[in-house]
Amino acid sequence: MWNFQTDPQYQELLDWADDFVREEVEPLDLIWPHLQFTPLDGKRRSVVDPLKERVRQKGLWATHLGPEHGGQGYGQLKLALLNEILGRSQWAPVIFGCQAPDTGNAEIIAQFGTPEQKERYLRPLLDGELFSSYSMTEPQGGSDPTQFTTSAVRDGDDWVINGWKYFSSNASTAAFLIVMVVTNPDVSPYQGMSMFLLPTDTPGVHIVRNAGLHGEAEGHGSHALIHYDDVRVPDTALLGGEGQAFAIAQTRLGGGRIHHAMRTIGLAQKAMDMMCERALSRETAGSLLSDKQAVQAFIADSYAQLVQFRLLVLYTAWEIDEYDDYKRVRKDIATVKVLMPTVLHDIAWRAMQVHGALGVTNEMPFLGMVTAAGVMGLADGPTEVHKTTVAKQVLRGYRASDDVWPTEWTPRKRDAARARFAEYLDLEVGNQ
Ligand SMILES: Cc1cc2nc3c(=O)[nH]c(=O)nc-3n(C[C@H](O)[C@H](O)[C@H](O)COP(=O)(O)OP(=O)(O)OC[C@H]3O[C@@H](n4cnc5c(N)ncnc54)[C@H](O)[C@@H]3O)c2cc1C
Repeated sequence: MWNFQTDPQYQELLDWADDFVREEVEPLDLIWPHLQFTPLDGKRRSVVDPLKERVRQKGLWATHLGPEHGGQGYGQLKLALLNEILGRSQWAPVIFGCQAPDTGNAEIIAQFGTPEQKERYLRPLLDGELFSSYSMTEPQGGSDPTQFTTSAVRDGDDWVINGWKYFSSNASTAAFLIVMVVTNPDVSPYQGMSMFLLPTDTPGVHIVRNAGLHGEAEGHGSHALIHYDDVRVPDTALLGGEGQAFAIAQTRLGGGRIHHAMRTIGLAQKAMDMMCERALSRETAGSLLSDKQAVQAFIADSYAQLVQFRLLVLYTAWEIDEYDDYKRVRKDIATVKVLMPTVLHDIAWRAMQVHGALGVTNEMPFLGMVTAAGVMGLADGPTEVHKTTVAKQVLRGYRASDDVWPTEWTPRKRDAARARFAEYLDLEVGNQ
């Protein structure tokens, strides 16, 4: 059965969320930019906690998680519809309990964690009381995890971790880290890596630097270079068992990628809204910008890109709910990941152009969106690697021709068709 409708009760909640984000949450992006992952101080807490409470009362807190974890169990499709709204604002995902990278981290602790790990890390994470960081990329290579060298070696009942990790987002404000390390160098990396959960203040965890993105002041970035220097953790810090890191990473990154895509729809829609408003408001050379064919092409191309992207994201979210198996949905998640930077880049760029000089100033958000598009082409893996995944998955549905001529080679197909219908062809000839 196909159905492109949102049920009316949920639509009411989405309408509420849309107003709430515009009126109550977007202003936080202007007064406290980039502070959404910093533990709340007194002033911010007095504003943020009541907003979170209103979200909880509406039943929209961490909706994708099941009731056992404080959510509604609405799943990914409903989260997608909500995230489209939240994507407009940096603060909104935090206020609604579904911010990256914590959503992906929460999902793997919920799925693979022991009861003690859930109690210690998941519960406060879901309550929005602390943040987490995922520490996987290394300075010498991010796209290819088989190059990772950070290791954990058994020592009695403990493990001792040594090595370097790079771009561990939010590590400097996170209460705990999920780190992926080599635990058995003698087997394939796919079986020889494990994940550990550890508090950020564990002795030996040194945050050496925090890289900032374009536009952030030096020293104010949030992507940590971490030196793990003889970091001792107990056996109970293992997440999901020894050698399970790849399987867990697949779950985590699959979820993270689609959540980014959901929010990207919201950001691209915001750029689209600004482009259309400007086109209808600005007059030059005797007519409105909206009357110029070039601007109309910007609007049409943007709409076409956005609506295709949105449908694929919603469909992929539906597939995740339906199959409950990220591996099975891998092709479409990778396709979404490939499209995401281009869709946001193109729409933001056109919207910026329509705004003329104002568009490139720091009084408008367009260059931030263009930077965000660049980030999306790298975070959670570069576009090129995801294209390879898409191609490999697509090719699985095909097999090679066992003949020198392709299956659709017309002369052979025509001969076969003629042989099949020879009786009728002869009759036709006879009638002429
Ligand atoms: C904003 C941001 C946040 C991030 N957050 C985290 C985080 O929280 N935790 C974490 O662990 N990591 C994080 N990362 C790191 C991210 O996962 C890596 O940057 C990414 O996997 C690419 O690795 P790399 O930067 O080492 O690039 P490299 O692996 O050096 O790749 C560089 C380029 O080479 C090309 N390339 C690489 N491999 C292939 C291939 N197989 N085929 C064709 N071309 C290829 C691509 O053009 C690629 O962009 C974050 C990155 C960004 C930008």
